[in-house]
Amino acid sequence: MNYISTRGAGAGERHTFSDILLGGLAKDGGLYLPAQYPRVSADELARWRALSYADLAFEVLSKFSDDIPAADLRDLAQRTYTAATYCNVRNDESAQQITPLKTLGVENGAPLSLLELSNGPTLAFKDMAMQLLGNLFEYTLKKHGETLNILGATSGDTGSAAEYAMRGKTGVRVFMLSPHKKMSAFQTAQMYSLQDPNIFNLAIEGNFDQCQDIVKAVSNDHAFKAKHKIGTVNSINWARVVAQVVYYFKGYFAATKSNDERVSFTVPSGNFGNVCAGHIARMMGLPIEKLVVATNENDVLDEFFRTGIYRVREAKETYHTSSPSMDISKASNFERFVFDLLGRDPARVLQLFRDVEEKGGFDLAASGDFTRVQQFGFVSGRSSHDDRVDAIRDVFQQYDTMIDTHTADGVKVAREHLQPGIPMIVLETAQPIKFGETIREALEREPERPATFVGLEALPQRFEVLPADAQQVKAFVATHTADAA
Ligand SMILES: *Cc1c(COP(=O)(O)O)cnc(C)c1O
Repeated sequence: MNYISTRGAGAGERHTFSDILLGGLAKDGGLYLPAQYPRVSADELARWRALSYADLAFEVLSKFSDDIPAADLRDLAQRTYTAATYCNVRNDESAQQITPLKTLGVENGAPLSLLELSNGPTLAFKDMAMQLLGNLFEYTLKKHGETLNILGATSGDTGSAAEYAMRGKTGVRVFMLSPHKKMSAFQTAQMYSLQDPNIFNLAIEGNFDQCQDIVKAVSNDHAFKAKHKIGTVNSINWARVVAQVVYYFKGYFAATKSNDERVSFTVPSGNFGNVCAGHIARMMGLPIEKLVVATNENDVLDEFFRTGIYRVREAKETYHTSSPSMDISKASNFERFVFDLLGRDPARVLQLFRDVEEKGGFDLAASGDFTRVQQFGFVSGRSSHDDRVDAIRDVFQQYDTMIDTHTADGVKVAREHLQPGIPMIVLETAQPIKFGETIREALEREPERPATFVGLEALPQRFEVLPADAQQVKAFVATHTADAA
């Protein structure tokens, strides 16, 4: 499997899965994608239906990472996707499923269900990919006798998922930037309570996008990056995207009886990583009818899918909402989809994302390419705070199920795209306990708290406050990477 950049530089070079695993953006600022998507044959799809999650993960991953010996990859998948890692919410045999499907009911003739992706150690779907990444990184670094310093930005869920995946891993340090005082008390405690010496929490005086810009600025300083062995685990990391492809297959098998059926997925979206994985699953041949992009008030993506206009927002236009992991002003993985939408024309992608830098966006409404959005199955919708409060209340009353604010955005938008006879699977992206304030507002009761998280907020916290300034972040990293890991 060869990987190429969406902006076309180094088109003659070969990049394997392992080559791009530890890096972030391609040298030209583009994102990596396979030169061609692997296809899944009807026979394979039939065989995969019976597999455990770990075996399914092995099958999907091996199509994208043929440079890792099969026995090693199988071992990595087996060690990552164990019931013991994904039993933090439901400690019964459903944990064996890793991502159990919870059926809600039938609405407008469509079976409506939740794919539970948030039963891992940090109670957010990002664990699904990040736990694999932790094991992949350790495996690859050990093999080459190297170390890695991970620099990342988080609005909450990415950071804790990364830290819980990397804590105690040999050869890895994590420097995680988070917007100071902008995460929920639970999220803050989850991250800042980690005392592992290889984990550094940097609380940045700014918003999430400023954190993300600092990470980009540091990553674009190639000399610094090389000297300090900087890597990233942001949602642009290709291995994370691939790991997310797996549960679209798992969800499909759980919601259907035969491979002649089609299903739709609704994906609470921010940086477009999760739904991008759905797009890839579809390109591989998974029978997906619709991919429904759900946004909150930060509706950059909904605007694009309705109008063809991609208009990134200023920091001051970015709302701080009750589904904060979707509070984005631009969607960092979106370029991967645009590449496919434009028939994989890197020169045009380069031009469009230059327009994003210089003019704040682009307009594909007039171009024929936008009609391909439908061919790719994409539709969208947005949700407001009141919508998600209503959805939380309604799902609780009708189905006796407590959902978090992001999943609520998904349910709200999914209901606008139901088609009779086609199962609609909403990806459950986090647990309600992470967003207690809104649960109390909607239900006038406390969110369910899994036993392993009792007393979390009272634990001592370890973090460093820094201004939103790339130079100061670099100085901190330089000081703390002075010794060998
Ligand atoms: C990260 C996150 C999202 C958004 O996922 P993207 O891959 O960035 O689109 C949605 N919900 C929750 C709870 C998240 O943590």
